[in-house]
Amino acid sequence: MGESLSTKNETIKVCHALLQNPKFFSLLLQIDMHEAAHVQSQPCSCGAVLHKADYPRKPRGCPPELRPDYETRFSFCCSQCRKRTTAVSVRFLGRRLYLGLIVVLMSERRTTLSASAVQLADALGVPARTIARWRHWWLQLFPATPLWAGACARFMPPVDPRHLPTSLIERFTGPAAEVAMRLLAFLRPLSVQP
Ligand SMILES: [Zn+2]
Repeated sequence: MGESLSTKNETIKVCHALLQNPKFFSLLLQIDMHEAAHVQSQPCSCGAVLHKADYPRKPRGCPPELRPDYETRFSFCCSQCRKRTTAVSVRFLGRRLYLGLIVVLMSERRTTLSASAVQLADALGVPARTIARWRHWWLQLFPATPLWAGACARFMPPVDPRHLPTSLIERFTGPAAEVAMRLLAFLRPLSVQP
């Protein structure tokens, strides 16, 4: 994976390539497991210990061989007050059914999707209306998140909000797998919001 994500038309190809890279996905799983272990090592706000209470997931857009790694969202339940604590994730972006990687890389800034994007969307079974919803989220809702409010000033020159997520992806440089990993890690706080 030597290519960069910095050219907008490459993102779909990269998404496609990463979906065929089991090492990339096992790294994402390891990051999530590490985060889950950290959550469980802390007590609940009431002081009691947390018990494992994972959410079952039926991930969409997930290659069959990766599915076992994506059927569980790591979550915990307090042994006393029953409060839920869900670990942040680089595999899932919130409650969306599709993998976080797909939500990020399929949401191109074009008004109509490129031929390669349509092909990949078809292969993954992502309906056009779903991509339209993700684009709406990127353009209208993401800029209003506390994550972005706190982080946008760190990007100089400023990231153009009219061209999200491409304008954000472009700011992460390096080999594609690394960029995708850092991008998902950056978005991780949003993985526990509704
Ligand atoms: Zn508690």
